[in-house]
Amino acid sequence: MFRPFRCPRPECPAHAQPFPGFFIRDGVYHPLCRPHPVPRFRCRVCGRGFSRQTFRADYRQKKPSINATCCDLLVACVGLRQAARVLKVARRTIERRFAWLALHATRFQANRLAGVSLAGPFQLDELESFEANRYQPVTVPILIERRTLFLIATAVGPLRRKGRMTPLQRRRRLQHEARHGRRPSHSRAAVRTILARLRPLVRPPRPLILESDEKPLYGRLGNDLFGPRFRWRRHSAAARRDRTNPLFPINHTNARLRHFLARLRRRSWCVSKKRDCLQRHLSIAALWSNFCRGITNRTHMTPAQSLGIAPRGLRIEEVLAWRADWGALSPGLLA
Ligand SMILES: [Zn+2]
Repeated sequence: MFRPFRCPRPECPAHAQPFPGFFIRDGVYHPLCRPHPVPRFRCRVCGRGFSRQTFRADYRQKKPSINATCCDLLVACVGLRQAARVLKVARRTIERRFAWLALHATRFQANRLAGVSLAGPFQLDELESFEANRYQPVTVPILIERRTLFLIATAVGPLRRKGRMTPLQRRRRLQHEARHGRRPSHSRAAVRTILARLRPLVRPPRPLILESDEKPLYGRLGNDLFGPRFRWRRHSAAARRDRTNPLFPINHTNARLRHFLARLRRRSWCVSKKRDCLQRHLSIAALWSNFCRGITNRTHMTPAQSLGIAPRGLRIEEVLAWRADWGALSPGLLA
């Protein structure tokens, strides 16, 4: 039986400080999208009505039933168009649901990580992809907690195309830059963004241990952000990438992301048209791989569970159930 635990209107005093009996029951209604009746309530402080549905993450959605499967498909290497075909809905519906899932995923993870203290070590690496065409590469820095493979943060930033090119490719890059201007390289800003996310999670005087390849940028940014408590462990990127490689956890994470996300597969038609969409997709993948999927195929222990921020492995329906947009006042896992 659902009992509201606060008034859902953020401007009402019973939102931040609810008291026993702040609401009265007010009948039920029959939504079009659900077979069972939904109980209604009225707040005795602000006098406004609300229902159980007001606390749900999918409130105001016309087809909440597609959410879990949509999420499952998006991390099963299926593109947005194919997801729409499988679910028999319009492509636009999936596009909107994709944006909603990403926003919810970001908030859900932020709520679960609020106030948490982590010891690390952490691992960082950048994988490369592109938006729209090969003259618009992007860098995708990924930050994980090493022991649990918990995906802490991801970012996406533009890069200028470099590396070996044929004379034709060089000419094409010139033409591309004549039309769109020289493409900036935002690796520094993107890596800085994700490293800064560790600030509230690793509080002084605890040292911050970061493992990565030898790119000097990482050392500079780490010292910049964390000062003397920053410990940088560098490892050669040229070493064989197997289980004995000290960077195996992050290399493995990158390989898994390329496996889960259609848009990160090599030589794929599903390549991102815009880098914002890649960022959204990464947020959804982080939610699923952190809270729903076992660390490996053999264990059911999820990264979030191993980190101590989830009581057990969660079903995708559970992480998508309750709204996450009230910060610390959000319903959490069990309203
Ligand atoms: Zn109220």
